[in-house]
Amino acid sequence: MKKLHPEYGFNTLAVHSGTAPDPTTGARSFPIYQTTAYVFDDADHAASLFNLQEPGFIYSRLTNPTVAALEEKLATLEGGRGGTVTSSGHAAETLALFPLMAPGMEVIVADKLYGGTINLMGKSYQKFGWNAVFVDTDNPEAFRKAVTEKTRAIFIENLANPGGVVVDLEAIAKVAEEAGVPLIVDNTMATPFLCQPFEWGADLVVHSTTKFLSGQGNAVGGVVIDSGKFPWLGNSKFPSLSAPSPEYNGLTFAETFGDLAYTMYSHAISLRDLGCTQSPMNAWITLNGIETLPLRMERHCSNGLAVAKFLEKQANVEWVSFAGLESSPYFELGKKYLPEGTGSVFTFGVKGGYESGLKMLEAVKLFSHVANIGDTRSLILHPASTTHRQLTEEQRIAAGAGQEVIRLSIGIECVEDIISDLDQALNCL
Ligand SMILES: *Cc1c(COP(=O)(O)O)cnc(C)c1O
Repeated sequence: MKKLHPEYGFNTLAVHSGTAPDPTTGARSFPIYQTTAYVFDDADHAASLFNLQEPGFIYSRLTNPTVAALEEKLATLEGGRGGTVTSSGHAAETLALFPLMAPGMEVIVADKLYGGTINLMGKSYQKFGWNAVFVDTDNPEAFRKAVTEKTRAIFIENLANPGGVVVDLEAIAKVAEEAGVPLIVDNTMATPFLCQPFEWGADLVVHSTTKFLSGQGNAVGGVVIDSGKFPWLGNSKFPSLSAPSPEYNGLTFAETFGDLAYTMYSHAISLRDLGCTQSPMNAWITLNGIETLPLRMERHCSNGLAVAKFLEKQANVEWVSFAGLESSPYFELGKKYLPEGTGSVFTFGVKGGYESGLKMLEAVKLFSHVANIGDTRSLILHPASTTHRQLTEEQRIAAGAGQEVIRLSIGIECVEDIISDLDQALNCL
């Protein structure tokens, strides 16, 4: 793991970064700044804030101290330059593309993705005139072949949903670099504890913080983190960042803000106009959740591996897709990119297809049947009848969510209890 800080390691930063004691009150838990607006010192102060000549708080759609603390913590843990927290993971995906895209432009997208992302990019983006070009996740050459003059970004999911797919980050980052466009990695499933995509050449990272980062299934949120390394300056492909902005007195983001250009644009324009801001309350919940991320991820990973090994041996189970198993085609990539563990969200196929899938959901007792992942609790889902329901059968199979597929998100309970619940449920089929 790259050294994120001259003095402190990851676990220390997970607890402390972004959340120093409150200088006014001494409060040790970071306060929830539940306010909409901030008093200006005088008219000049207000003007310079609005002109982006001075940093400070104006209105909580753009910035808020609790949300800013979360931005700092997440940017630190990913080894990035700046972050923009959003109301949800989906909002983060759109916000990540907003400074880059324009009508008629293309984003190359891996085909193994969270089902909602396939809908968002494949269908809704057409309304903006943004074209998502889907390519085979497992083939970096397919990404290279899809590059055109109109390509403005490449988007992939690390440890892809719904089941145990490890993407060749370094190879795809090389394609993006040669194409002169940023690589955006959805790092929701791995979290920065297991993998930091910037280390492998990614330019932007997005998360649904709803999952492992907040960690307890109680706050929807997202974030976009910028590495600060992409060369926007003078780059005619990205006029939002490289051309003068009339609404801010003709300033050019890349020139004025340097390696913070993308993050400044995301607050001053993307959040200002799209308004997909996170509430201070949710930011506070997520800040607290992240403090225990390393501990939870260790347990999630060890429980996940033990459950996958158990399932692999069961007669009612056709296959298990978990990158930590030696039988997985992603085992070697997993060792390279996720040496500490390959997460706890994965799929397996039950014998008997759709019917058995539904029976399994009814038979489990400890597992909750929910459309979420990354909770302390163990969760179960049948993607074909829920999250991937709106896709065609062909898209479902491409996304690893066919009729017989069950998705598990293994929690941090006693592993023997999790296994015995699955054991009794499999015996009911
Ligand atoms: C859940 C999820 C999303 C969407 O995030 P929301 O917070 O639900 O909007 C995006 N990507 C991945 C990998 C996810 O798991």
